[in-house]
Amino acid sequence: MNIILFGPPGAGKGTQAALLQEAFSIPHLSTGNIFREAIKNETPLGVKVKSILDSGELVPDQTVVDLVAEELKSDVYDNGCIFDGFPRTVAQAEAFDAMLAEKGSQVDAFVALVVPEEELISRILSRGQGRTDDTEEGIKNRLKVYENETAPVMAHYKEKGLVKEIDGIGSIEEIFARIKSAVNS
Ligand code: ADP
Repeated sequence: MNIILFGPPGAGKGTQAALLQEAFSIPHLSTGNIFREAIKNETPLGVKVKSILDSGELVPDQTVVDLVAEELKSDVYDNGCIFDGFPRTVAQAEAFDAMLAEKGSQVDAFVALVVPEEELISRILSRGQGRTDDTEEGIKNRLKVYENETAPVMAHYKEKGLVKEIDGIGSIEEIFARIKSAVNS
C-alpha cells in the first residue's frame, strides 16, 4: 500500500509516519530526512541542497524525483511505502504517478493532516529539534511555499478521489486513530 502523508510543516507528518510504519509494516520515506542526512554527511547532494533547506525553499523537482526513483529501486518498498514530504509540487506528483504506474503500482491513499497556521508556528518553535530552518523566518517562508506550491498537490489527488482529510488537532494517539480508520475505510 502506498500512502502519501501530506500537510504543512509542523502538522506532525513525521510523528504519524513513524506510527504508520509500525502499524502497517511498510517503510517510511521522508525526503526531508534524506536531505538532512546528506547535509550532515556533507555528500555532494547535501552540499547542493544545504542553502535551499536553510531558506525554506524547495529542492528542484528533478533532483527530488531522481532521488525517489533511485530509492524505490530497493526491494524494501515492494509492498508499498509511507511517503512523507513527497510529492511537494504538482510536477513531482505527476512524475511520481508515472513512476508508480511503470511498476504496476499506484497511490492508494492521500492522508492530509489539517492544522491551523497559528498552531503550526507555535508547534515548530516549541519542538526544538535544532533544525537550522526552524527559525520564525524559516517557518514563515516554508508556510508560504506550502501554500503556493504544495497545497495544489491535494487538488491533484482529490480529482482521483484519494484524499482523506484528517483533523490534525488532538493527541498523537487520537490523530493516529483517525488516520488508521481513514486508511482502512
Ligand atoms: P517540513 O515539513 O517541516 O517543512 P521536511 O523535512 O518535509 O519538513 O522538509 C524540509 C525541507 O526539505 C523543505 O523545506 C525543502 O527545502 C526540502 N524538501 C523536502 N522534501 C522536498 C520535496 N519533495 N521537494 C522539494 N524540497 C523538499
